[in-house]
Amino acid sequence: MGLDITWAVDWVRRSADVIAEHRVELIRLDRDIGDGDHGENLDRGFTAVVPKLDDLAAGSTPGDVLKLVAMTLISTVGGAAGPLYGTAYLKAAAAAGSESSLDGEAVARILAAARDGIVARGKAESGDKTMIDAWTPAVDAAAAAAASGAVATAVLAAAADAAEAGAVATEPLVARKGRASYLGERSVGHRDPGAQSTALLLRAAADAASE
Ligand code: ADP
Ligand code: MG
Ligand code: MG
Repeated sequence: MGLDITWAVDWVRRSADVIAEHRVELIRLDRDIGDGDHGENLDRGFTAVVPKLDDLAAGSTPGDVLKLVAMTLISTVGGAAGPLYGTAYLKAAAAAGSESSLDGEAVARILAAARDGIVARGKAESGDKTMIDAWTPAVDAAAAAAASGAVATAVLAAAADAAEAGAVATEPLVARKGRASYLGERSVGHRDPGAQSTALLLRAAADAASE
């Protein structure tokens, strides 16, 4: 039982809900080490995607949904996160192709493509205290789960768990990319907002798959 269009649409709706719920928390995290707009930026983007879901043509695939998210985030979010998440969803859409159902291997492949897109665009390495520090553990956990034969739902759950741990693990790091890098050592002791939003979005994906 792979993940289909119903899952993809539900993921987007849950993403919009969870980002709205955590909007203030993401703003606070970004106020500590950035300019305080991360929650507002993402909330604007996901709020803009939801009504567009109603216009998806019959027979649309998960890849079509990922592409819709990409285009909307690129045109509405701005800042660093808009182009980075936009690229992630665009690469994910390309990896999903026109498949109507995604198995565990496909999910792992799609997450890796999304992460690779963010790295290609932003050039962050692991440990730079960015969203990559949530994405890369998630990609690694997803690959390990898929290799051991896990179904798509379990692959996403493993990715979400690893992303949450990765976000927490950004707290002691010194920021080396993005606005937070201007603070240098003073960024220590704060969680990276983009890593936190990544964990929220991947948990939403896992929750959409498990119900
Ligand atoms: P801005 O910094 O332009 O206000 P946001 O506040 O929306 O943009 O997003 C900030 C987040 O973007 C950071 O918390 C970090 O996770 C992520 N980020 C910034 N620069 C990079 C980069 N070069 N590579 C990966 N992620 C990055
Ligand atoms: Mg910001
Ligand atoms: Mg900004």
